Amino acid sequence: MEFISQRVKSLAVSQTLAMSQKSAELRQQGIDVINLSVGEPDFYTPDHIKAAADQAIADNYSFYSPVPGYLSLRQAVCDKLARENGLSFTPDCIVVSNGAKQALCNVILATVNPGDEVVIPTPAWVSYVEMVKLAEGITVTIPTGIDSDFKVTPERLEAAITARTRMILLCSPSNPTGSVYSRDELAALVAVIERHPDIIVVADEIYEHINYTGSFTSLGSFKSIADRVVIINGVSKAYAMTGWRIGYCAAPLAIAKAVSKLQGQYTSGASSIAQKAAEAAYTGSQECVAEMCAAFRRRRDLVVEKASQIPGLRINVPQGAFYLFPEVSALLGKTAPDGRKIETSGDLAMYLLECGHVATVDGAAFGAPGYIRFSYATSDDNLRIAMERIAKAVAALK
Ligand code: PMP
Ligand code: GLU
Repeated sequence: MEFISQRVKSLAVSQTLAMSQKSAELRQQGIDVINLSVGEPDFYTPDHIKAAADQAIADNYSFYSPVPGYLSLRQAVCDKLARENGLSFTPDCIVVSNGAKQALCNVILATVNPGDEVVIPTPAWVSYVEMVKLAEGITVTIPTGIDSDFKVTPERLEAAITARTRMILLCSPSNPTGSVYSRDELAALVAVIERHPDIIVVADEIYEHINYTGSFTSLGSFKSIADRVVIINGVSKAYAMTGWRIGYCAAPLAIAKAVSKLQGQYTSGASSIAQKAAEAAYTGSQECVAEMCAAFRRRRDLVVEKASQIPGLRINVPQGAFYLFPEVSALLGKTAPDGRKIETSGDLAMYLLECGHVATVDGAAFGAPGYIRFSYATSDDNLRIAMERIAKAVAALK
């Protein structure tokens, strides 16, 4: 008897979470693995946010919350979008979910019909393609590489669009490459999108605040397409709140309503306590955000310096997020001291884990074989040791 649906059988396991799990297992066996696999800030949630959660418990925020989230939180999100991005949303266009992950999946499930095409520039975060699969949509990738700083050009975007294109999904600052589109680069893509009025644009802006360029442009700020842009964001990365599971979509009213209807049937409103904490994150002092970003920038400089000294790794200088995405094809075809052949970037990631004791993620998980991803959201000391281990492991390949 086969109990598992075709839908789930066709899904890939999240490689970011799987590598992190594997590294935790090795640690439990007493092996000192440094985990550069999962992308999550290593900082604790700031105290004033934790205090708001304590207060919410004391105030008996223990009942079901409204499906799209508390009005006060949705208002705080609207104020954030106005203050930081110059956007004017009303709370009925905001739906709060269990992390940006659910917000994204909701939007895809609420708008993509079977057979619809979703255009995704790659390398792209592991879950996009799988979410499109869940909606029975068809992913159309636009592969990019290190030589174009992993950015898609207007010409290539235009070429990927067909009569069946329903959605374009963009992520800036990018996971896994750290690339950040400038306002001019986005404007050039918007000029293409303007010509295709039936396409929804989903802008994953979860790394907005981990940005070293000094400026951030939300795709929602382009008036000509604003009525079909859906913004995805949340508190996980900016406020070191990955476990609290609060994200949101800011969408045209019809899409927000559809998302709320969907969410009402399968998860209801997000955690009441976590929502009150998120509200404090948006309404309180933003100093913690700048402090964490400064720490990520220092770590970015450190890993870039160390990685650029390792023969065989070709790197770009990431302008945001907390990932480095080296190209490693020069190392493929080599043999490790234990006799294993390194044929693919996946073999390399496994070798670095098992022999170098550093967990990374194979670029293939992001649609980019020939690369590997390091998350540098860990302490400077850990990063120094990890980069030394990687240098040693790579030098041992013959
Ligand atoms: N989008 C991207 C690009 C991400 O890297 C992540 C990482 N978790 C998410 C969305 C989901 O974030 P959350 O933890 O809020 O679900
Ligand atoms: N987004 C992070 C990452 O890419 C967290 C894990 C996940 O949700 O995929 O590592």
